[in-house]
Amino acid sequence: MNLNICHLYPDLLDLYGDRGNILALAARCRWRGIEPVIQQASLGEDLDFMGMDILFLGGGSDREQGLLVQDLMRHEKELRKAIENGLVVLAICGGYQMLGRDYQMANGKILQFLGIIDIWTIAGEKRLIGNVVVEINGKTLVGFENHSGKTYLGEGVTPLGKVLFGNGNNGDDGEEGVRYRNVFGTYLHGPLLPKNPRLADLLLELALKRRGSDDPLTELDDSLEELAHQAMVKRLMK
Ligand code: GLN
Repeated sequence: MNLNICHLYPDLLDLYGDRGNILALAARCRWRGIEPVIQQASLGEDLDFMGMDILFLGGGSDREQGLLVQDLMRHEKELRKAIENGLVVLAICGGYQMLGRDYQMANGKILQFLGIIDIWTIAGEKRLIGNVVVEINGKTLVGFENHSGKTYLGEGVTPLGKVLFGNGNNGDDGEEGVRYRNVFGTYLHGPLLPKNPRLADLLLELALKRRGSDDPLTELDDSLEELAHQAMVKRLMK
């Protein structure tokens, strides 16, 4: 069985090891006998979002976001359709912001984004930088954030988790990221998935389910990943 994973704008959105998320997904597929088919796509390309199993958007600075936003907006209808159909999306920082309505930059200029999720971002005065621990249903996610944008969620929009350490969406409301259908938006770079293999497997499970497979994923030995994860949690939460 194949799994189609698309890394969109790898040349523009790939901060702080974001590409490691693709490597982690690919490895966890291969270890289970699933063949990951990795597509790298950038400006000006035709894309088949419905044919993708997992779409990955990494982080990028305001400059990169400005360079690609017009190209991304070309795909708004098709991407929205695939998301409503259950496409699994992982979007980090700049990529996460771009799923929302808009971004008010430090110079007051407003960049219009996709508006697929009811969230918006406003540049803050200080950068929110450092390690982060987030809680989702009693389990932790660890990662690293570096953004000046502060993201706010519209009414009824569900955050990904609760910040236990660090800033998350805006440093004010204790929330981090967004979860909408099978879309996971988050400020956690790091890269995220090697540090949080449970989340990697959730993405794979959701993608396989959309393909009609309800079989549970083969268990992997994550003891090293788990030790590294817990070491980070302990260091930050002491
Ligand atoms: N440009 C955005 C910000 O600073 C996103 C940065 C990032 O992706 N790390 O808010």
